[in-house]
Amino acid sequence: MVVAIDGPAGAGKSTVAKAAAKALGFTYLDSGAMYRCVALAATERGRHPAELAPELWIELGERVMLDGRDVTEAIRRPEVSEAASRVASDPAVRTAMVAGQRRLLADGDWVAEGRDIGTVVAPDAAVKVFLTASPEERARRRAVELGADASTVLAEQAIRDERDRTRAHSPLEPAAGAALIDTTALTLEEVVERIVELVREARSHAGTAGP
Ligand code: C5P
Repeated sequence: MVVAIDGPAGAGKSTVAKAAAKALGFTYLDSGAMYRCVALAATERGRHPAELAPELWIELGERVMLDGRDVTEAIRRPEVSEAASRVASDPAVRTAMVAGQRRLLADGDWVAEGRDIGTVVAPDAAVKVFLTASPEERARRRAVELGADASTVLAEQAIRDERDRTRAHSPLEPAAGAALIDTTALTLEEVVERIVELVREARSHAGTAGP
């Protein structure tokens, strides 16, 4: 079964997706980390992201490995966030990433997190969630995470949001049938409980035993 969790930066996707995967005993897929790897490799190697994307060997787990090198911390740097959102608007990069994500999701139980999981990567996902939160709250969370200034994060976030929402290829939007969850005033436990409940419902509709 696939649980697709999409939404803008800072809505809580990573925290929620990891916690939901743990609660359900599913594997967590961080698709944003893949775009970050493409951005990092293209910058470091001075190569065109579209040409490079299909060649990269990206391993996701406790640590993120790029062609055998641990880039877990490197891909979280602000300049890589910025570059990732730019390379993600290239259709050829998206095609390569989506193919890799579909190969992974073909087997087993997953909580996959990104911008286009419910719309493009896994439109048949049993559970689709679109997480949101107010822009100020999203920036506040990111600022705490990065140890950065909230107003700077808010300004940069607005640029990335706009780019993700208005790009021609796979813009960020809720998938058909996605449950919208606004996390601004909810605790992590409340959001995870809601997702576990959605999985339970999906299983009972499919006629199999619930968790
Ligand atoms: O989620 P995260 O912030 O790590 O994603 C980095 C960038 O990758 C995002 O700004 C977005 O532009 C892009 N992305 C995407 N599609 C996904 C996941 C991430 O376009 N499924």
